[in-house]
Amino acid sequence: MMKVYSFKCPACGYESIHQIGTLDMDQILTDVNTEFAQYRLFVCRKEKKFVHADVLDAQFENKCPSDKTELEQVDLKQAKCPRCGKELKIQEINPLATADSSTE
Ligand SMILES: [Zn+2]
Ligand SMILES: [Zn+2]
Repeated sequence: MMKVYSFKCPACGYESIHQIGTLDMDQILTDVNTEFAQYRLFVCRKEKKFVHADVLDAQFENKCPSDKTELEQVDLKQAKCPRCGKELKIQEINPLATADSSTE
């Protein structure tokens, strides 16, 4: 099940939105040509930010797409701010409202 989460750090102001979960058949809305995808949350230590990646993508090598540093997988429930390490406010967002905003 694909879900969209918003992460906010009250301490330093870090803000990020990520899709996490498995793309099921009944969730394929329009022109999603992915057969099956499993998005997980990672942190890029170099950029100090969250990155979500499709772990079933053959292209995915556990590296940050922008700087190729090794990504660290993060458990959603234990996610801490990648910038300052403080507690985050994690909120689930309705995926239907934000489905179009994914970067393709
Ligand atoms: Zn922070
Ligand atoms: Zn990076």
